Amino acid sequence: MGIRSAFAVMAGKFTAKILHILGRGATSLPGVVTLKICPDVLGALAKNIKVICVTGTNGKTTTCHAITDMISANGYTFLTNGAGANMLNGVVGCFMDAATVTGKVRRDYAVLECDEASLKNITKSFKGLDVTVVVTNIFRDQLDRYGEVLTTLDLIQKGLAFVPDATLCLNADCSLTSSLAESVKHKKHYFFGINCGFENSSSTDISDAVYCIKCKTKYKYHSSTFGHLGDFYCENCGYHRQKPYIAIEQVKAFKPASAEVTMSIDGKSYDTEITLPGAYNLYNGLAAAIVGKTIGLDDETVISSMKKLTTPFGRMEHIPLTDKGVELILVKNPAGFNEVISFLTAHCTGEDDILFGLNDNSADGTDVSWIWDVEFEKLSVRIAEITNDKQTFFFTGKRGEDLQVRLKYAGFDTEKFRLDKDYRTLIQTIKSTGRHTYMVLSYTVMLAFRDKLGEVVELKKYAR
Ligand SMILES: [Zn+2]
Repeated sequence: MGIRSAFAVMAGKFTAKILHILGRGATSLPGVVTLKICPDVLGALAKNIKVICVTGTNGKTTTCHAITDMISANGYTFLTNGAGANMLNGVVGCFMDAATVTGKVRRDYAVLECDEASLKNITKSFKGLDVTVVVTNIFRDQLDRYGEVLTTLDLIQKGLAFVPDATLCLNADCSLTSSLAESVKHKKHYFFGINCGFENSSSTDISDAVYCIKCKTKYKYHSSTFGHLGDFYCENCGYHRQKPYIAIEQVKAFKPASAEVTMSIDGKSYDTEITLPGAYNLYNGLAAAIVGKTIGLDDETVISSMKKLTTPFGRMEHIPLTDKGVELILVKNPAGFNEVISFLTAHCTGEDDILFGLNDNSADGTDVSWIWDVEFEKLSVRIAEITNDKQTFFFTGKRGEDLQVRLKYAGFDTEKFRLDKDYRTLIQTIKSTGRHTYMVLSYTVMLAFRDKLGEVVELKKYAR
């Protein structure tokens, strides 16, 4: 490490220390200071480390978490950033946390969640290193972020162009993501996917990629899972889904916190359990599995690691607020919210209350009209079958009223609605019910609400 980058690391560490003494939590300032002194400090810090970048619209955090579960269970050391630190400053900050004062990072792997738009700023420093990039999927995010899906695809392409020797792990079921295998010409690429499709999948109702990326003909599907994900093909030009190297062949049972599945690795079948809740998390489990293979783990190790995966901050995090507990679920965009709706439709009973929380800060999306693309109708039909007198739907956040209106139109019984914008009193109300509650919250509601929950119950600490 050169004198300049060593000095930059020292200055960054010093800034972090001062902030800590002042009682200020994680901020991007140490990363900013370090980058100011030495703009290419990241390359110097990452020199002797293998890098795994995870990007895509949905599932980045859960996938990173699953990868770190797997590599730590197999004796490797790692550093990782968090959802709130997935841009360049945050990535530099997490390397600096792990570095010695002389700028040495003694870890086997860096598992990095990378914001799609920031990927290029991050991979720029990783030229010539051992890099794996996972692309989970590409969906339309909130309306006011990054524009259309093709813009996101283009941003990811730019990021991949900096690391032409990287190994790519791509979602075969996403027609946008899998097109990267051709457009970026990386030699090493592996696909993961779900071969069996799901009943009641929503591909016909909502899609962010209706038309063929090559010839604009409408895609057809042999089977589908969520949104535009599935076994797609184009009748006109022949563009079609690639055969996955790792796949789910069959789902034997969905349980509230896991799924029993038959998985295949390079054509060989294995029965296992993926211990992540919700059908949508199967993709995140597969993404972790494929990374396991690319770093050299054998099939049996990968398969048994699937049984020990855990969920990260805000992704179906169980909190013992009541006897039966509550589950925190983060929602960021229509596709992710629809996956949560599918989960609730399958698992919610009359004994479960639901809290919906929405803000319109920039991290949530300032235009909340995207909630009209969420299929609350599906859940409403299910709720009408199972509901009882005790069931309550709570609403909170700056735009709680908008959600109320949306759910009213979806057919929910407004007699069961209860709006409370004061997180502390709302938490006490829910606590006093003693009931199990699913808490479905947008990003900044989640952060603030979880903080207030921490005043009442002990919470797991997450590396941020
Ligand atoms: Zn076509």
